Amino acid sequence: MAVSFQHLPKVELHLHLDCSLSREVVHLLEGGIGQEEYLRRFVAPADAAGLPDYLLRALEGIRLMQTSEHLRFVTFDLFEQLRKDHILYAEIRFAPLEHTQGGLSPWEVVSHVVNAMSEAIAKTGVEARLILCTLRHYDAAQSMETARLAREFQGSLVAGFDIAADEAAHPLDQHLEAFRFVRENGIPCTAHAGEAKGAESVWETLEKIAPQRIGHGVRSIEDPDLISTLKLRHIHLEICPSSNIMTRVFPSFSAHSIDQLFRHGISLSVNTDGRAISNTTLSEEYEILHRTFGWEEGHFLHCNLNALDAAFADEPTKARLREALVNGYRVISD
Ligand SMILES: [Zn+2]
Repeated sequence: MAVSFQHLPKVELHLHLDCSLSREVVHLLEGGIGQEEYLRRFVAPADAAGLPDYLLRALEGIRLMQTSEHLRFVTFDLFEQLRKDHILYAEIRFAPLEHTQGGLSPWEVVSHVVNAMSEAIAKTGVEARLILCTLRHYDAAQSMETARLAREFQGSLVAGFDIAADEAAHPLDQHLEAFRFVRENGIPCTAHAGEAKGAESVWETLEKIAPQRIGHGVRSIEDPDLISTLKLRHIHLEICPSSNIMTRVFPSFSAHSIDQLFRHGISLSVNTDGRAISNTTLSEEYEILHRTFGWEEGHFLHCNLNALDAAFADEPTKARLREALVNGYRVISD
């Protein structure tokens, strides 16, 4: 019989707002879309030709998120998905500069998403924070503009800064000033690395921008010295198994490094990356890890506690969530 992890409380740290539009919300915003067209436009194929091919689907979501009303609908839609998936706490991320085509300023974009999140948190009971992303192909000024937004909204639901998009095609150099700015202002950072490129990309990211967490980082397994350094510096890896298979980082789930990284004692979490683009839920990711590596509730509790330790929320919030998480597992194992 298939094991279900649906009812376990979960923490998700790596989740792109623009990669998570359900068919229902697209149907609402566009006035109708069939399942076949939805899958073609919003979901990456199981055999995507790599990260750039996978990322093409994000553009479809971004195109529909250009007004205050649409940003609000998409945010509420995601929280409803999180509620159904028993997410206790989520860190949602997006790149605000991508949402100005309808005339909104970047400040207004962030403001609308923060306000929608506040309402959605109250309505669903899912606690959440927002991470603002700069993108690899941005120039230094765009990256700095995003960093300044993170500073302006510091103390609201905006809790962190990230760099996303194609690491193989664009270097980090034009983003160093933005990361220096957010670090000097005490804003926590994460960074996509070690996904399309190998361990050297994680090294470069650690040395040049010193984030608290790495998005993916799954190819760190290629370098034992890097594994030691990640442990020594308490760097948390946000791992997205299905996404890594779709972007061909690994040929199969059984070849994925997550189980080895777990055994090495690396702090890591399980994430979807994007619920539409990866065509998954966190419950489904847990089921895949159960089937592939025999992971049980104890593995998931361990990962979720690591995720809360590495979360960008304040300590009182984390303490409250930690208690709710442990109680949730206790009830299930009773
Ligand atoms: Zn990502």
